[in-house]
Amino acid sequence: MSMRTVISNAEVDGRLVSVVIEDEIILAIDDRAPSGEFSAIDANGAALIPGLHDHHVHLLAMAARLEGVDLDALEDADAFDRALTTAAASAGDGWVRASGYDEHRHGLLDCHRLDVLVGTSKVRVQHRSGLAWVLSSAGLGAVLSDDIPTGVELDANGRPTGRLLRLDAWLAERVGVSAPSLQKIGAQLSSFGVTGVTDATYNLGAGRAELLRQAVQSGSLPQSLTLLGVNDDERESVEGWATVGPVKILVDEVVGLDVDLLAKHIEAHHSVGRAVAVHAVSRAETVTVATAMALAGMMPGDRIEHGSVLPTDLDSLLAAGGVTVIVQPALVSERGDHYLEVVDGEDLPFLHRAASLLESGVRVAAGSDAPVTSADPWLAIAAASTRTTRTGQRLGATERVPAATALGWYLTDPLDPSGPIRRVKVGARADLCLLDASLAEVLTDPNASHVRNTWVGGRLVYS
Ligand SMILES: [Zn+2]
Repeated sequence: MSMRTVISNAEVDGRLVSVVIEDEIILAIDDRAPSGEFSAIDANGAALIPGLHDHHVHLLAMAARLEGVDLDALEDADAFDRALTTAAASAGDGWVRASGYDEHRHGLLDCHRLDVLVGTSKVRVQHRSGLAWVLSSAGLGAVLSDDIPTGVELDANGRPTGRLLRLDAWLAERVGVSAPSLQKIGAQLSSFGVTGVTDATYNLGAGRAELLRQAVQSGSLPQSLTLLGVNDDERESVEGWATVGPVKILVDEVVGLDVDLLAKHIEAHHSVGRAVAVHAVSRAETVTVATAMALAGMMPGDRIEHGSVLPTDLDSLLAAGGVTVIVQPALVSERGDHYLEVVDGEDLPFLHRAASLLESGVRVAAGSDAPVTSADPWLAIAAASTRTTRTGQRLGATERVPAATALGWYLTDPLDPSGPIRRVKVGARADLCLLDASLAEVLTDPNASHVRNTWVGGRLVYS
């Protein structure tokens, strides 16, 4: 038996209508409420918009952060020290996992500083970028054998410093991560009106893909899922529960940049019909990636993830190639004060650009990069439209965009993030977000508290 829901008095594209949902689909849009048996919701004139899609998240890291020590909220080294000492005191033989470590606020960290805080406890601390870990000596002892992989930093005497770079999957195998529950993450996303996410985790691997599959198929993660970290030869393995997006590629200035090699990688993916999503943050990285893309040739769907420092010289190249930059506007609010202190003066004008990219014809869409920033897209929309930091300073005021533009960055198709805005229309999948006021009103005060109901594929997942 099919399930029918009617949302009456809803503002859709500026008109007051009744929207009829049947099963997964929008069946009809009428000027008057239809009769018959259905479950009805009166929108009271508030806006009904397509569900939001976050184009860049890391789901398992989000879930893991909820379960470990969250360092991101801690403002200084003293608070950091206290949090780890306390966590280690009650850890027993198990691991202490902490994430959100930030060297600028929490101070430099190696195994020696950790050992002073946690003694013989096994502790692993993840850098806020997600790309590095610092382990206590006991932690190192538990995961290292004689065969030390690249990425384990060694001091002048050849002894590990505790710092591990880009060894996330390697470490996960050795510490035997228990599956973090995605239920809370799914519920949180639903409360923001988010009905789909693109997981941008690099090289997801069978183990982590399996955790995501279980979360999707059990319903604990109701959002539709697009994956970047699936290799070209693994694409069939996610059929039926996720969509394969472009393939995630990492470049890292610290490890070394090789334009020709990167261009070859991009070409190889393109040759099997796969677009690329290349992580590039610093000026050197974005220049390298844009140059490599120009060498390899670009294909529809190619993306630059972050593009945090993006010199304007690259605009014409990116615009002509149709590359989409996936921006994180929330960083302006959450990290802006810090950027104003530490970012090179000559990089500041190119930091987290938005309006000037659009003016140059560069395609833009947005993702939170959660847990690096909050997964709340409304915070990001507010930050994009005000460019205000936490302490009220302005970062790149000329890069402001209207809140409606920023909202549009979340209303596109996951495979065409900077393409047409999805619409509430007959025949469309019923991924919907009902607000508590007209769209114009909500956009003057972008805020997740305006989200009243969320449906994914016609199923009510938040009210
Ligand atoms: Zn990311």
